[in-house]
Amino acid sequence: MTNNIGGSATVQATIQQRLQEIKNGFLSQLPTRIDEIATAARQVATDAAAREQLSRLAHSLVGSGATFGLPAVTEVSRRIEILTRSQTASADLAALLPSIIDDLRRAATGAVMNDAPSLPRADGGGDERQYLVYHLEDDPDQAAELAALLSAYGYRAVAFGDVDAFYRAIQERRPDAAIVDVMTPSSLLGGPAVMSRLRVMDAERSDVKPIPTVFLSARDDFEARLAAVRGGSDAYLVKPADIGLLVDRLDVLTSRQRPQPMTVLIVDDDAAAGAHYEAILQMGGFDAKLVTSPLEAVAAIQAHDPDIIVSDLVMPDCSGFELAAVLRQHEDLLTLPIVFLTADDTEETARSAVRNGVDALLTKPVDVNELVETVRARASRSRLLRGLMVRDSLTGAFNHGMIKDSLAAEVARSRRTGAPLTMAMIDIDHFKSVNDTHGHAMGDRVIKGLARLLMQRLRRSDIIGRYGGEEFAVILPGTNAQSAAERLNTLRQQFAGIRYGQGEKTFQVTFSVGVAELKPDMNAQALNVAADEVLYVAKRQGRNRVEVAPP
Ligand code: GH3
Ligand code: MG
Ligand code: MG
Repeated sequence: MTNNIGGSATVQATIQQRLQEIKNGFLSQLPTRIDEIATAARQVATDAAAREQLSRLAHSLVGSGATFGLPAVTEVSRRIEILTRSQTASADLAALLPSIIDDLRRAATGAVMNDAPSLPRADGGGDERQYLVYHLEDDPDQAAELAALLSAYGYRAVAFGDVDAFYRAIQERRPDAAIVDVMTPSSLLGGPAVMSRLRVMDAERSDVKPIPTVFLSARDDFEARLAAVRGGSDAYLVKPADIGLLVDRLDVLTSRQRPQPMTVLIVDDDAAAGAHYEAILQMGGFDAKLVTSPLEAVAAIQAHDPDIIVSDLVMPDCSGFELAAVLRQHEDLLTLPIVFLTADDTEETARSAVRNGVDALLTKPVDVNELVETVRARASRSRLLRGLMVRDSLTGAFNHGMIKDSLAAEVARSRRTGAPLTMAMIDIDHFKSVNDTHGHAMGDRVIKGLARLLMQRLRRSDIIGRYGGEEFAVILPGTNAQSAAERLNTLRQQFAGIRYGQGEKTFQVTFSVGVAELKPDMNAQALNVAADEVLYVAKRQGRNRVEVAPP
């Protein structure tokens, strides 16, 4: 027997503990280090030494973020470092920094939150951390109901019937978010008063950021909503709250959804100018790519799938307008927005820009903020529109066409790589009776609830689509039938535990699943049929179960 000291359990535990202590030390210092960055940033416009100082501070966070497994901190710090070392004028730098430092604070908060103990997951995907939500609500039944609904989505709701207990709890342990019931239906005093008290409490401490707060109200009029805005609420929902909508808001407010950075393709024949815009847009948080000839643009679009193009107008090979016309010949690029940069601000140029269907025309020298804001606005709109085209409007899951396309692509990929591929078909049980008993609108809510559960609990790499009415398809790349079935079985149990409706009329819903793994002799169509057939078996065998196609 070898005496493996490094492997001894106690030594391992000690090392683990030491590493954790070091990391905790870093995490507790992080707010102070960000404050130092913020201080240097405020002096950048007037003090050249502050720029150098800022650069060093950011650089050291780039490194320690990577060391301690905080990629978001590294990424944002790197943006600051690149920015300070670029040619950007100090005045422009000073203007850009506050919003980047906000990003940095968000990244740091996410890091601390993710450090909380979480359930390990075998596949390393998904987000199983419980998020803590304080719920101010004087009706215990409503509170219990909401807590049960939220628990299926990874939120642990703790209810408080009176405001003082609510404030005390916040002083003891800050939640990730708060839901505040606007308690007196006839007046809106409750909610805004709570908000201002929270702000006073926060003002006494410099180390905390405001708790994201959702108002729940029985009123849906403009006056009520306005009072909530003035009170400083982050979201406003009308009772009875649509659970899908509430979870959506909570996900965004707690930064649980981390959007992918938007991609910009820059087309500029002047490499130095192009690099300048590339640096600016990267600092603005975009993933920027540069090509120096319009002739390379189509290939680069295919390679990087950008959300938006930023192009120079006057170029030797072909003009920006000609480039736009060529791009518009590709049907799938019809909605890709193009922003032009030009030194020529004549009426004639502006008129031809309109004629050529140009989205925006910015005049050089381009204001840094204007460029970033214009690109951000157009790109997010474009991403939204693109998302709508491939997504089902009720649930936000991929639509039938998209799921078919994805299945074909994943089957081809699995053939190339030899990795397993599994498809699951999910169908809600006796859904007709849900509609008949509780109404179509409630039926819609159940469908949305299922979609959300799938989207939140499956891995990022899994592809989730609404196949038809109350039927969903899930494509699980790199997963065999056995582990797909286990995962879906967990979801089946969670879904069955969700209670819908309120008061007397609560009910529960189940679903059945058919799981099939791709076999060598199958194409996409055959895999789909196999999953469908075994779903039918699950139905015949009594529903509320997962069945796997025989190997
Ligand atoms: P089974 O357990 O065999 O699946 O029973 P079922 O009642 O779920 O079966 P069936 O597929 O016959 O019924 C599905 C029902 O779903 C029929 C349709 O009215 C309803 N439905 C389809 N799309 C929607 C929708 O978008 N919203 C709502 N509320 N209902 C829908
Ligand atoms: Mg059904
Ligand atoms: Mg059906």
